[in-house]
Amino acid sequence: KDVSSFERKEFPLSSEAKTQIGSLLDTLYKRNFGQPEFLEAVYEVLGSLIPVFAKEPRYIQMFEKIIEPERQIIFRVPWVDDNGIQRVNRGFRVQMSSTLGPYKGGLRFHPTVNLSVIKFLAFEQTFKNSLTTLMMGAGKGGSDFDPKGKSDGEVMRFCQSFMTELYRYIGPDTDVPAGDINVGAREIGYLFGQYKRLANQFNGVLTGKDLGWGGSMIRPEATGYGCVYFAKNYLQYKNMDFKGKVCIVSGSGNVAQYTVEKLLDFGAIPVTMSDSNGYIYEPNGFTREGLQFVMDLKNVKRGRLVEYLNYSSTAKFFENEKPWSVPGDFAFPSATQNEIDHEDAEMLVKNKVQGVFEGANMPSTSEAIEVYKQHSMMFGPGKAANAGGVAVSGLEMAQNSQRQQWPREEVDEKLSCIMRDIFSMSLSASQKFGLGDDVQSGANIAGFIRVADGMIQQGA
Ligand code: GLU
Repeated sequence: KDVSSFERKEFPLSSEAKTQIGSLLDTLYKRNFGQPEFLEAVYEVLGSLIPVFAKEPRYIQMFEKIIEPERQIIFRVPWVDDNGIQRVNRGFRVQMSSTLGPYKGGLRFHPTVNLSVIKFLAFEQTFKNSLTTLMMGAGKGGSDFDPKGKSDGEVMRFCQSFMTELYRYIGPDTDVPAGDINVGAREIGYLFGQYKRLANQFNGVLTGKDLGWGGSMIRPEATGYGCVYFAKNYLQYKNMDFKGKVCIVSGSGNVAQYTVEKLLDFGAIPVTMSDSNGYIYEPNGFTREGLQFVMDLKNVKRGRLVEYLNYSSTAKFFENEKPWSVPGDFAFPSATQNEIDHEDAEMLVKNKVQGVFEGANMPSTSEAIEVYKQHSMMFGPGKAANAGGVAVSGLEMAQNSQRQQWPREEVDEKLSCIMRDIFSMSLSASQKFGLGDDVQSGANIAGFIRVADGMIQQGA
């Protein structure tokens, strides 16, 4: 893409600014050729920052820096499977930005993981962590290891080998990883155990730890609860509430589970959940008992969602389909990136869905976001709406430093205030730069300016 695809009549750029952005785009492409997820994420943020660059061109240089990771680590992860066969995967840690604090972000284990995906996630994390207002830089890591169908022993040996290489790059004041897709309480436990052996230190090097040994209350719930808190603030701004509203949720992991739980708390009617095999439609909405069944099925038995049909006689399972054709009031994509494309977004519009709140990272393609904007739908982008997870990770770091564990109510209260503030900061940044209530651009702007100012002040 060249500078003309980002120019906007209402926000004219000086010719110097245009040249700078043009050369930045050339370098970006040369350095990241063949990395579509990363390029897409950079383009999305750049589009939102044009009003900022038109007003304050010195920020262009900061953007040029922010899109180049501080450090990228790629490593071999050898492990032995249950048949005694030696296997090998690739491990990653991208340390994107340390302007606001230690590198911070999750680890994802999934066959789709590659450098482009990890860089895109680390880039998003930069703005997300900034929006929480806590002291956290940004990073992301993971592996193309597929835990599906692996035994507990295999997962443990893989995690130990992964940490055997990773441990030299991380530390409580250096880089603090956490979970992401397929990295939950079990994996964090194995990773922590291996770190402790190697470093001979018990510290807050990972977040998402078990409550018994340094974890925080509300951490498992945080992303899902936070997303619904964010949506609640958005709804309030529009003089609406959740009572009786039908919600379409995708995913059935940690984020989706606690999104459904909080929606139930607020009197909404969540009617769908999904996994990679298809989606469940529960026409009268999930009950708390039904949700508990899903939680046990996924978290303890590590089963497939279709087994929910053994629990409910009213539910239907749609194989290999996504839930976006189900009519409802709000959508909560909580599975993975690019799960709502242009066609899905058109379907949401047809069904009169009024808002999309992203529990996952970048679940909507840029074409889908275009559709939301054309139809003036409410849109909570992932880096704002799903920031609750990493926010409570930040609170876990604070508790670890104090060698304390705060009560559940206290953490929940802090989470809810952080989500309220993220919504209002995003809205006011958008208004300040003449973009009305474009919360998506506002989130990018507010997240960017805090990091950019830090870089200017630190000369780094
Ligand atoms: N993986 C989560 C995210 O995408 C949480 C990261 C963390 O807690 O460090 O924000």
